[in-house]
Amino acid sequence: MPGTSHRKLRMRKMAKISVVAAAVLLLMYLGIGDKLVFYGRIARLYTMEPDARLAMPVQDVLRKQVANTWHAPRGTDRMHEGQDIFAPKGTPIFSATSGYVYKIGENNLGGQTVSVIGAGGRVYYYAHLDSYAPGLAEGDHVSTKTLLGYVGTTGNAQGTPPHLHFGVYTSGGAINPLPLLVDRTAPVLTTARPASRRPMVSRKA
Ligand SMILES: [Zn+2]
Repeated sequence: MPGTSHRKLRMRKMAKISVVAAAVLLLMYLGIGDKLVFYGRIARLYTMEPDARLAMPVQDVLRKQVANTWHAPRGTDRMHEGQDIFAPKGTPIFSATSGYVYKIGENNLGGQTVSVIGAGGRVYYYAHLDSYAPGLAEGDHVSTKTLLGYVGTTGNAQGTPPHLHFGVYTSGGAINPLPLLVDRTAPVLTTARPASRRPMVSRKA
């Protein structure tokens, strides 16, 4: 009878919907719901064009003060995959883009690091932090006004002048952040700086 098969189909559909609903409820109960929302947001970032301009992440530093050390040799087997931005220890570091905090963690080379995922799925890597911005957590939304932490010498920057190691990673690997960096508009210069400061260079970190 055609009526029976229709009813069967409807029942199967209902069963499917209730299975999905139960799964969602279970995930929410287990606290995975938040993670799904986070992954959803990241998936959206992948559909967006990557940032063409990155705001200078270190307070009171101008782009012209950054010595280009992209792909400078580091030992015999490594190249510098980023730029070092020198500033006194404790200088605030702000996110260069909007996005989400992807990872906060410590590793041998980078010391205390923050990774932010931005438009196009690009990952912005901030390393050698002296400390993290209070309350900063993985999954947090950030803008170019968000404080991430403070300049330091953690990781393999120990013994070098304090600096931020700033890396930009695409799905194809690291790219040079320097051509994308722009000075922040209306910079707030809180400290007097010598007029002709030679760009600093670290040969290590
Ligand atoms: Zn570096």
